[in-house]
Amino acid sequence: MQATRGAGSARIDGEVLIERVLELPGGPLLLELASAREDVDLVGGAVRDLLLGRTPLELDVVVGEEPDLFARELAASARLGGRADDAAAPRLAQHDRFGTALVEWDGARVDVAARRAESYASPGALPEVRSGTVEEDLERRDFTVNAIALALGARRRGQLRAVEHAFADLDAGCLRVLHERSFLDDPTRLLRLWRYAARLRFQPEARTAALAREAVRLRALATVSGSRIGTELRLALREPDPLASLLALQQGGVLAAIHPSLRLAVPERSVHAALRLLPPDGDRVVLLLACVLLSTGDGEARELLGKLDFTAATRERVCDTVRLAPELPVRLQAAARPSELAAAARGAPPEALSLAGALGEERGLDSAAEAARRWLGELRNVRLKITGDDLLDAGLAAGPDIGRRLQTVLEMRLDGTVGDSADAQLEAALRASS
Ligand code: ATP
Repeated sequence: MQATRGAGSARIDGEVLIERVLELPGGPLLLELASAREDVDLVGGAVRDLLLGRTPLELDVVVGEEPDLFARELAASARLGGRADDAAAPRLAQHDRFGTALVEWDGARVDVAARRAESYASPGALPEVRSGTVEEDLERRDFTVNAIALALGARRRGQLRAVEHAFADLDAGCLRVLHERSFLDDPTRLLRLWRYAARLRFQPEARTAALAREAVRLRALATVSGSRIGTELRLALREPDPLASLLALQQGGVLAAIHPSLRLAVPERSVHAALRLLPPDGDRVVLLLACVLLSTGDGEARELLGKLDFTAATRERVCDTVRLAPELPVRLQAAARPSELAAAARGAPPEALSLAGALGEERGLDSAAEAARRWLGELRNVRLKITGDDLLDAGLAAGPDIGRRLQTVLEMRLDGTVGDSADAQLEAALRASS
């Protein structure tokens, strides 16, 4: 443990970091509440990001004891100092068996936990936990660069403590585990390793890379529940550059270790193209999961996503995308008129169409890509000015005939053979043969 500042970090000034904390959402309130206490430290990714000149999205804080009480006090101060409307009211959530609590208000996210020491009874099991010192709390962490604490309160304010190598690793851009058994104790750290590597553009240090490979070879991930692996995989897929995370996970052998058929089955440039085609209501996670499950059968994909605890909605959308995207390019290419395009796209989620567009381009079916773009960007939003009620009011009998007429007029509208006014559309619907 480096008591304060480590080698290669003489330029690090804790007071400067405190100034930066003051500029973050929630920072001033957190520092004010911590000012009377000796036991409040900022830890984990927040300190790492501040030292790297990045803006942390969340402030991880450890306290000596009763994190729930500190969190409640923080929420109460936020309520006092905040705006009167409900939208800005602080939210407080207790979120695990260790009394950890998350307080959110007005752009601030503060995660409060008790300092703890951990030991692992068996590989992959959840750790046994007791309360601990700041040093012990740092020793239980995943990588040296995440094991730096910045004291926020009272006389220690601005003091930095870190595990050995932490500051030098941060300077060198390298990820190093804290001990030899780290990946075996908690194999989810394999996913964290490659996620951080991709995001921070850091390299695993040589011994850490060897230990990661060895843990993959020993099938360490098989000792962890699918749900915990799924949680880490979702974090990787929600990164600002999720494809970089997936590629790093693949190169590190982690995707294949989760399941042998998980692999990026689409050229990288096509994934980028599909992401570019994805409309705002599309789901990047669904699209990327489909890209790594494309060569897997429907049933197998559904089962795997279930084990990894993806929601039923995500599972179904991924399976639809995996099933439809490969065959869609030919159908899109063949669609001459917009109404034919609508027929080809019917029932396909936006992720399937985005991927189909990219696959079409890849296969030289350029008009398929153009058709996907046009459908997603424009045609799928075309709506009629009339509804079934208008047809009932005009004297037609209720029944499936109403839906068929509306469908006919929608196709006409798409092809531009009926105008945009309600009158024109009603007239066309009444004229349409049932
Ligand atoms: P992000 O920048 O994505 O929020 P973070 O580094 O803050 O990442 P979190 O998942 O919020 O990461 O976790 C906070 C801290 O808790 C980490 O920085 C790390 O020190 C520690 N941590 C989280 N998961 C593990 C783990 N599986 N093993 C050891 N330490 C962990």
